[in-house]
Amino acid sequence: MPTLAEVVAALDRAYDPAWAADWDAVGLVCGDPDAQIDKILFAVDPVHATVEEALDVGSDLLVTHHPLLLEGVHGVAATDPKGRLVHRLITGGCALLVAHTNADVASPGVSDALAGAIGLRELQPLAPDPSEVWIKLVAFVPTSGADALVHTLAAAGAGAFGAYDRCAWLMTGEGTFRPRHGANPTIGAVGTVERVGETRIEMVLPGARREAVVAALRRTHPYEEPAFDLFRLDRSVAPTRGTGRIGRLDAPVRLAELVRHVAAVLPGTAAGVRATGAPDTVVSTVAVCGGSGGAYAELAREAGADAYVTADLRHHIVSEVVERSAGKPELQPPLALIDVSHWASEWPWLPVVAERLRADLAIGGTTVDVRVSEIVTDPWTQLSPADGSQS
Ligand SMILES: [Zn+2]
Repeated sequence: MPTLAEVVAALDRAYDPAWAADWDAVGLVCGDPDAQIDKILFAVDPVHATVEEALDVGSDLLVTHHPLLLEGVHGVAATDPKGRLVHRLITGGCALLVAHTNADVASPGVSDALAGAIGLRELQPLAPDPSEVWIKLVAFVPTSGADALVHTLAAAGAGAFGAYDRCAWLMTGEGTFRPRHGANPTIGAVGTVERVGETRIEMVLPGARREAVVAALRRTHPYEEPAFDLFRLDRSVAPTRGTGRIGRLDAPVRLAELVRHVAAVLPGTAAGVRATGAPDTVVSTVAVCGGSGGAYAELAREAGADAYVTADLRHHIVSEVVERSAGKPELQPPLALIDVSHWASEWPWLPVVAERLRADLAIGGTTVDVRVSEIVTDPWTQLSPADGSQS
């Protein structure tokens, strides 16, 4: 029987907490790392129903996708609904662990499970994790300032490889420009063509350092308008982590068929599945994002998806996607949006993480009983077609 600390370590290997978004709250919410763990329940939401289920079946640990305490709290008194859940868990001897955005971006992660349920193949991240994208910065600076700029860019995260840092490639040449009226040039005068000995600096940086490096460049570069380019590098290893996935169906299907298929393969909810687009549209490339993925709809279109499956799609996002293609033959057929229950879009990950954890602990020589909650915690419980018959 593993300790809670061993279970947490196994989950952290698959869903590194360092991958979580800055605003997120992942990891252990309550529980003693030395406690022995025999039974684990997996659920999307840490709510009354799943906490009671965990206690009813004798779980020592409840693993949820959504955080219980996302906002800062000053206490967990049982008079507060969330504090009451913490009390129930602690007095019932059950720990709570959250794997949220760290599980979203993992490979395989939450959206891989959604894509797998739908039957997509050749999956790639829809929005690759910036830390897996590499960028080459090319900047031009008066030669006298080249060393100082390389130093500053390196301090911001450019030019680091393995045991080496401050790696840069430099070449000197000549830059020329003419300051126009209103300019405040560091070198030269308004209206006069200037020639300056400049150094071309090339440095590679991880995508996650992009903003810091560009800010450092603008801060340090002597010119009012520094000249620089950023190139995304085509690495031999394609990024695997990131938000959402895009892949292909085994064979093209009509949109209406895909909508029915999505409704059939996801766990049932009252709110069901709704979609935009003409039912006869042929679909072969599909993007998905477990949870609220409205922000990635445009990315799905640019990536060449015929349809995009996600949850919590808002009126304005959907309307804008539909309107963007209206009356433009070159943008037909428009990206079809398929809106599913937030809970249902993330539930397919639960059996995956449960089995993965069980197998990982078994390799280490310990066994646990894993169980997936089937309680529907989608808060929408009723649906009535609005036919306007009395309006
Ligand atoms: Zn979610």
